[in-house]
Amino acid sequence: MTNHHYSDPHWLLRAEHVSKTFGQTRALVDASVTVRPGEAVAIMGPSGSGKSTLLHALAGIEPADSGTVILRRPNESGFDDLAALTDSERSGLRLRRFGFVFQQGMLLPELLAWENVALPLLLAGVPRGAARQRATDELDRFGLAGTDERRIGQLSGGEAHRVAIARALVTRPTLVFADEPTGALDSATASDVLGELLSAGTGSDCALIIVTHDERIAGRCDRTVRLSDGRIEAGA
Ligand code: ADP
Ligand code: MG
Repeated sequence: MTNHHYSDPHWLLRAEHVSKTFGQTRALVDASVTVRPGEAVAIMGPSGSGKSTLLHALAGIEPADSGTVILRRPNESGFDDLAALTDSERSGLRLRRFGFVFQQGMLLPELLAWENVALPLLLAGVPRGAARQRATDELDRFGLAGTDERRIGQLSGGEAHRVAIARALVTRPTLVFADEPTGALDSATASDVLGELLSAGTGSDCALIIVTHDERIAGRCDRTVRLSDGRIEAGA
């Protein structure tokens, strides 16, 4: 698309010519995107234009049919081609390097607030005591001191969403993916959540990829990738 896309050595994640078809539906067509360390990228487009499909391909959640997604390893130690990894290698990589803020259903109501935040640490094998401390510190950082022992159902909607952000950031990921919460959330609350995520991410070297319908949120990102009928129209 643009020349710097190919020549810029300072990239973190690069998708090239990624396509994905569901049955007859061409959900994503020849999409190429580069994400640099620490930048915030908004993804916008009409419903059904392929935003979630792109996010899932970039995060290695739902690998594409064709094309490549390459993630740079820390400290000049090489690259990972997401499609070349086994499922378990990909989930390990997601756990170590990515954070996710998805629909509120992703919080586990039967777990306490701190356990929800600590989940990625516990899955990565961090001992329970250390994971609890880090989760509590992260909750404090988001103004949720004292909520550790509450279940998600005992929190307000806004508090629950901050728990989700704390969980996405607790591992100090390289890259956080957020798919605009839909359905249960009114759009004002959805924008608040993404705004808080942007504030938390800004100033760290964590890159953010945010699907949003809110032009104000997109305006706070470094740039906007626009999708239409599975094709990237601008901003890659
Ligand atoms: P967006 O997130 O922009 O609303 P999606 O990426 O979810 O769009 O979907 C893009 C297109 O692919 C839509 O036409 C959608 O119906 C279709 N699609 C997405 N996921 C699936 C799936 N698992 N099975 C069948 N079709 C799907
Ligand atoms: Mg979607």
